[in-house]
Amino acid sequence: MWRDYLFARSVDEALELLARHEGQARLIAGGTDLVLQCQRGECSAQVLVDVTRIPGMERIDERDGSIILGAGVTHTQAASSALLRLRAPLLSEACRVIGGPQVRNVGTLAGNLVAALPAADASLALVALDGEAEVASREGRRWVPLSEFHAGVGLCRVDPTSEVMTTLRFRSLGSDYRAAHERLARRRVHALPIMNVAAVAAVREGRFADVRIVVAPVAPTPLRLRQCEAFLEGRQATPEVIREAADLAASLVHPRDSLLRGSGEYRRALAGVMVRRALERVAGGEQTGRTWT
Ligand SMILES: Cc1cc2nc3c(=O)[nH]c(=O)nc-3n(C[C@H](O)[C@H](O)[C@H](O)COP(=O)(O)OP(=O)(O)OC[C@H]3O[C@@H](n4cnc5c(N)ncnc54)[C@H](O)[C@@H]3O)c2cc1C
Repeated sequence: MWRDYLFARSVDEALELLARHEGQARLIAGGTDLVLQCQRGECSAQVLVDVTRIPGMERIDERDGSIILGAGVTHTQAASSALLRLRAPLLSEACRVIGGPQVRNVGTLAGNLVAALPAADASLALVALDGEAEVASREGRRWVPLSEFHAGVGLCRVDPTSEVMTTLRFRSLGSDYRAAHERLARRRVHALPIMNVAAVAAVREGRFADVRIVVAPVAPTPLRLRQCEAFLEGRQATPEVIREAADLAASLVHPRDSLLRGSGEYRRALAGVMVRRALERVAGGEQTGRTWT
């Protein structure tokens, strides 16, 4: 386990503390993933640098047509924010179904992204919303598109031993956009998803536009079904088109057999069913998520 637990009061101070310990220190937010990793001996950090007291880490704003979130926004804050429920119900709904209340009260969006588990609920929604993360390092700040953020199971483009994710942003969806979140999990409060699907699209004069579909866990990273998105672009939002897209979705995913989540064959069929349901709801004008148990 760690030797020292330090609180950073600013992003610069967090960077300074990380740099001073030369790879031996690591950021912590809610600790819902990291403490378990430490207990399992999977995290060798001697020093933990807590970022939850940095001002601005919990902000939720809308500016110039974009939603701006502090990276330390917790799942409870995201689920209960009136702004997100109105402007990005996909994200608030995804956060509402994470773990139990204790996990939601302290678990953060940054932690969910940097832990980089492919089925993570908030990450899935943020990828579907075409979000970006601002990452601060000693060299400066950069924006990383979340579509390029994941690099494998547990791997991402942020190094929490030398960098701090500070902010998340995505464009607010216009009034012609719809979004849906579908989730299948076992009937237990703490169950991780067997399958997770998020779909975002504009529906203009009955036709799909700017479609984004993300499925997980069917690959080491949340998977954008770009072929399926291209298929839907400009097509009428009819049951026939949606069924065809769902069949295409099922043909594009290759989930592995999992003792925890079921066979690859079952989950491949499930991906088709859940993409169909999500698209039906997008076409029908719904804005909410749904969890199946
Ligand atoms: C019982 C239980 C149930 C759960 N259920 C779900 C679920 O249903 N769905 C789901 O998606 N997840 C679930 N989780 C996983 C977890 O709660 C989430 O991934 C959570 O969002 C992690 O956030 P955190 O703030 O606790 O991260 P931490 O554990 O503090 O950190 C996770 C990683 O992020 C890094 N990090 C934290 N903040 C920053 C930052 N600002 N910049 C850079 N790096 C940073 C840390 O160094 C670490 O590598 C569950 C966990 C538990 C224990």
